[in-house]
Amino acid sequence: NIVVIGSTNIDMIAQVPHLPQAGETVIGGTFSQAYGGKGANQAVAASRMGGQVTFISCVGDDTFGTEVIQHFQKEGIYTDFVFKEKNVATGIALIMVDEKGTNSIAVASGANERLSPQHIDQARQVLEEADIVLLQLEIPLATVIYAIDLAKQMGKKVLLNPAPAQRLPKSLLSKVDILIPNEIEAEMLTGIRFEEEIKIVGENLLSLGVETVIITLGEKGCYVIDSQSARQIPAPQVKAIDTTAAGDVFCGTLAVSLAEQRTLIEAVHFANAAAALSVTKVGAQPSAPCKSEIENFLKG
Ligand code: ADP
Repeated sequence: NIVVIGSTNIDMIAQVPHLPQAGETVIGGTFSQAYGGKGANQAVAASRMGGQVTFISCVGDDTFGTEVIQHFQKEGIYTDFVFKEKNVATGIALIMVDEKGTNSIAVASGANERLSPQHIDQARQVLEEADIVLLQLEIPLATVIYAIDLAKQMGKKVLLNPAPAQRLPKSLLSKVDILIPNEIEAEMLTGIRFEEEIKIVGENLLSLGVETVIITLGEKGCYVIDSQSARQIPAPQVKAIDTTAAGDVFCGTLAVSLAEQRTLIEAVHFANAAAALSVTKVGAQPSAPCKSEIENFLKG
């Protein structure tokens, strides 16, 4: 049982010849629309991996809100705690992706800003039944803090993907079992530039009270550090088309693998493989692989 608490967005994606500078207009793109939001991406990735997923999120009272709840249901996600809020738009992300797969994203959070501690309280029962609680930072920080406190009181394992990058109080980090930042987020949390040794960044995060830190390193895989050991685990080599949501697929897959009682290192191998597969396809949720695809990919 996995509870994902986080954002829901509709992604408006333009594939463009190059990313525009401020004031520049770039012509020649192609448009597509997809379901996104870090919370929703991670919930979908976890569900495709075979996890029993409950998603706690807010959408707006617009057509996007209705559509996206139906989409979650089709993905096998339990949606009783996807709240439809009045007088607000569903979150929207404007995404540009260039020919090398590099992206640039602007988010209008809308209903995601409404997800409150009261909503978390309404979902107490599913939190009680959870093995793992997985969160990100596209919802109000007060809600993240409240949810983590509650999950820890219930003795749950808490995974936090501290994205988008921001500084966080030590009182919050000390309650996180596994922190999963990318390089930019790790830099933001520690104030240490990544040119320095990665071990220093990892140790600094541990010193903030996190039990285990997994820093994702794009095509280089990830770096896993706890008080006992530190090692880099490479990702399989693939041809990257679009890296949108690679970190989300990584986090969702990791959560399910851990709930299935795999060791941390086994779970990380699985998460690396799932995330590597996802960068070979365009889009956030459309690119999340299912369990059999990952298993076949690992068999080679
Ligand atoms: P984010 O998407 O949050 O920026 P990363 O870029 O670090 O996160 O990617 C997350 C994970 O996705 C990596 O740890 C790795 O497993 C996988 N990944 C990302 N880019 C590639 C790539 N080019 N080739 C293979 N795997 C990749």
